[in-house]
Amino acid sequence: MDSVGVAAAAPDAGPGPAWQSKCPWGAPSTTSISCSLADVMSEQLAKELQLEEENAAFPEVVAAAEGPFITAENIDTSSDLMLAQMLQMEFDREYDAQLRREEKKINGDSKVSISFENYRKVHPYDSDSSEDEVDWQDTRHDPYRADKPTTTPRRGFIGKGKDITTKHDEVVCGRKNTARMENFAPEFQVGDGIGMDLKLSNQVFNALKQHAYSEERRSARLHEKKEHSTAEKAVDPKTRLLLYKMVNSGMLETITGCISTGKESVVFHAYGGNSATEDKVIPPECAIKVFKTTLNEFKNRDKYIKDDYRFKDRFSKLNPRKIIRMWAEKEMHNLTRMQNAGIPCPQVVILKKHVLVMSFIGQDQVPAPKLKDVTLSSDDMKKAYYQILNMMQQLYRECNLVHADLSEYNMLWHDGKVWLIDVSQSVEPTHPHGLEFLFRDCRNVSQFFQKGGVAEALNERELFNAVSGLNITADNEVDFQAEIEALEKMNEDHVQNHGKKLSTFSSDGDPPIYDE
Ligand code: ADP
Ligand code: MN
Repeated sequence: MDSVGVAAAAPDAGPGPAWQSKCPWGAPSTTSISCSLADVMSEQLAKELQLEEENAAFPEVVAAAEGPFITAENIDTSSDLMLAQMLQMEFDREYDAQLRREEKKINGDSKVSISFENYRKVHPYDSDSSEDEVDWQDTRHDPYRADKPTTTPRRGFIGKGKDITTKHDEVVCGRKNTARMENFAPEFQVGDGIGMDLKLSNQVFNALKQHAYSEERRSARLHEKKEHSTAEKAVDPKTRLLLYKMVNSGMLETITGCISTGKESVVFHAYGGNSATEDKVIPPECAIKVFKTTLNEFKNRDKYIKDDYRFKDRFSKLNPRKIIRMWAEKEMHNLTRMQNAGIPCPQVVILKKHVLVMSFIGQDQVPAPKLKDVTLSSDDMKKAYYQILNMMQQLYRECNLVHADLSEYNMLWHDGKVWLIDVSQSVEPTHPHGLEFLFRDCRNVSQFFQKGGVAEALNERELFNAVSGLNITADNEVDFQAEIEALEKMNEDHVQNHGKKLSTFSSDGDPPIYDE
């Protein structure tokens, strides 16, 4: 396995003829799909196709016979830095254990005891100190770090009188352009002009920039072809270390492999350990969701979180790295609410930065099938429908949440019932678009079950009213949607005027209910 590949090479892996045979995720399978025009228009299909494309290079592995992804003994040790860090971590742990034994021996039953605390070695990666956080965010190679172009003051000039300098000033501009070369990919050779007082004209800079970007894309394409490419992108070294730490601490036994890789997250399967330090019982099998939202996708998704007042105060101050963590945090909070309401969903085990560990829905490394992939008897289909209706109501009323990405893609069929997953984007109903999200969820659910032959399935408008308890009477989609938006607007106006959200909606023409 190549130096940066995620998987540890099995010790006995001989030099195979092709990389496929060595890949711990198994050989990619090619699937062909046939679909209707309606399917072509579907966003989900687009996502699916993208996933399939990715899976061709980085296939999902279920019940893999190949070696595990991370175990305490077996981990990628080809990165010198990481190897050193891991060894140090292990050394520190042994040292501290020895220290504790000595401390115990010396103190015995004595009432006055000596503490060796100050002599303990806590490995930096083993503590959750704020220093760690700083280190995490400020690395030069942080892939999520936003470009920080030097800004010109808004008024467009600096200085006074005859010393006035505008943003178009040739010298200033030239220097800025030179400085901006730093933003090019590290592989891109710009010479050592950065250290000099070099002034690049806009024309030269732009040509250079264009070239740098196309070089970057070209090298990315070349890179793609190498065996480890997609795996490498799936988790960065810092994340790998975080995962290793979980195994090393005994919380997890083994991380066996990847079960899903999407645009926004990678999900791994792991066997739970029997960590003595955590007071929680670790489930025998766990799912590890690693959020890998990059700046681009974060922009697409920010409407979910930006307007979620629970996160509002924090949002503006955050860098992208922290926002990714907030997704993970959001998923954790939402899962906990659901768990408390008794909705079948993964149970949260632990959240570390952007990595969420939860119980695994499935068995023996095989994840439970998504509702879209399973063929249910008409009885089970009906049962599933009523269960979902019930869950949607519970979610709305007891958890005060709207799933906001509810469909047959995010419901698993396991143990004869439906389990809800993927709730990082879930919002409270009073979110500025909360009701629209709910309506979309209702449309997905309603269509799925109507197509699936459940005669009792309510249409999307009936379902919306049944879940929300609202009484929107419009008998067509357009008017219904308009009424929903009017309600949302009323809520927003209320926030403007009172600085508070309504706790519930009412559509009966009554004044909005607000209770403390
Ligand atoms: P995404 O945002 O990438 O859609 P999901 O939370 O939906 O993230 O997870 C992606 C896939 O990983 C799911 O469709 C499911 O197959 C699998 N998965 C996620 N969480 C679990 C879990 N707790 N147990 C089993 N499989 C899971
Ligand atoms: Mn999903």
